[in-house]
Amino acid sequence: MAGRHKKAIKPIYRRLCAETENGKVLINESFPIRCPYCGSSIVRTHGTQARKNTRVEGFKCADHGCEFLKDHNEGKQFTITSSFSFVNGMKHTLQRIIELFAQSTRSKREIAKDFGVTPALITFLYHKYIEALENLHNLDVLVVEPQEDTAISIDETFIKIDGKNFYIIIATGYATRRVLALRVSESRKEEDLRALFDEADLNTKHPISIVTADAWNGTRAMIKNLNRPITFVIHKHKKPYDKAVIWKIEYYNTIRKITEIGIKTDFFKRRGKREFNYTSRKQNTISKPKRKRGRPKGVKNGQGKKRKKSRKPKKKRGRKSLFAVFKNGKKGYAKVDPYHVKIRVGCDIPWAVNAALKDVNELFSQKFVQNNVAEYINSVISSYLPLTGPKTVDSIERTLKSFFLLRNHPELIDCIRISHQFQRAFSEYQIINFPYREVVLS
Ligand SMILES: [Zn+2]
Repeated sequence: MAGRHKKAIKPIYRRLCAETENGKVLINESFPIRCPYCGSSIVRTHGTQARKNTRVEGFKCADHGCEFLKDHNEGKQFTITSSFSFVNGMKHTLQRIIELFAQSTRSKREIAKDFGVTPALITFLYHKYIEALENLHNLDVLVVEPQEDTAISIDETFIKIDGKNFYIIIATGYATRRVLALRVSESRKEEDLRALFDEADLNTKHPISIVTADAWNGTRAMIKNLNRPITFVIHKHKKPYDKAVIWKIEYYNTIRKITEIGIKTDFFKRRGKREFNYTSRKQNTISKPKRKRGRPKGVKNGQGKKRKKSRKPKKKRGRKSLFAVFKNGKKGYAKVDPYHVKIRVGCDIPWAVNAALKDVNELFSQKFVQNNVAEYINSVISSYLPLTGPKTVDSIERTLKSFFLLRNHPELIDCIRISHQFQRAFSEYQIINFPYREVVLS
C-alpha cells in the first residue's frame, strides 16, 4: 500500500513574489519546489515555519534515495528560499541576466520575457547592476587574474565629449575574448598604444606574441619599438579591404629583421592553394644619431625645424610602403587546410614567412583576416555610456573598465552588492508565498 502513496506525490509549484524597493514583484508563476539536499521534486508540504513577523510554508523531502536520510531519520525540511531551485536557480539566472545587461543587445522587456519574470524585477536588477558598476570604478582593473591569451586585437572607436573627439582604444584577447586593456585618450600616438599594450601584457600569463590592428602609424611604431620578437597583422579599415599584411619581427643583437608578407584577407578561409608576396628588411635598432647629423650648425633649437621637414615625407613613405610588398615582394605559394588548422609552404620559402603564416593561421583559420570588435564596442558605448553621470576622460575610462570587468567576470556579481541586495529582496523583504498567504488572506 505504500506504493500508492508514492504515486500520489506530484511535483509542487508555487507562485513566487518578492517585496522590493519598487513594490511587489512577481518572480515566477510556477516555481518548482525541490529538495535542497538531493534536488528531487518528490517533496511534501510540511506545515509552516516561524519568521520575524510571519510564518512561511514548510516542505519536506520524501525521496527515499535522498542522501540526507543517511544520518537522519526524517527527510530534509526546508522552505522556498532554502530550496534547491531557489538557491541554484537564482544564482545562475542572476548571472545570465547580468551578462545580458552587459551585452546590452536586448531590451529590459525582452529580457523579462526570456526569463519569465516581470519587467519590474528586471528594472530593479538593472539599477542594482548600475550601482555595482559604480562600486567597481575604484578597482580600475579589467581582469581579476592574468589570462591565457598570447594574441590580442587592438581596436579603436571614438566618442565626442563637449564637442571634442576622444579615442577609445581597446585590446581584446583572441583566446578568452576578454578586454585586456582599455584607454580613453585625446590622441592615438605611439605612447598611447604602448600604454595599452603594456596593460594587456600585464593582464596575460605569457608575453603577448601576436598583435592584430588596423593600419595606424602609431600602432606600427609602437610594435617596432617594443624591441622584442612579435608577429603583427595589419588589416586596413579603409580600401583595399581585401588585403592584409603580416610582419614577423625578429632580433639579432642590435639588428631588427622585419619580414613582410602580403596576403588576401580570405587566405585562411577555405582549403586550397594561395598566393602571397614576401620581402624582408633589416634595421639597426640603435640608429638614433640621425637627428644630430641634421641639426644646423650654430642653431640651438634647430631640432624642431629639422624634424618638421623630415617627418612629413616619412609619413607618406610609411603609408605607401604598407602594401608595397604586393608589388615588390617575391611570390610564394602555400597550401591551406583550415579544417585541420594546417599550412604548408615550399622549402624555398624563408623560415620567418612559414612561422608567421602558421601563427596567423591559428587566429584566422576558416575566417577572414578582419576585425569586428570595434563594432561591438560602439554598441556598448551608445547604449551604456549615456546612462552614466558627468563625462571626463577619466570617468569614461573607469566606467568602461568596470563595465568590461563585469563582462569579463560575471561571477564577480557574487562578491559585490547586487547579489547581496538581490538576496535581501527575498529574505529580508520577505518572500510572499502565494498559495499559503492567499489562503490565509482570503
Ligand atoms: Zn532530498
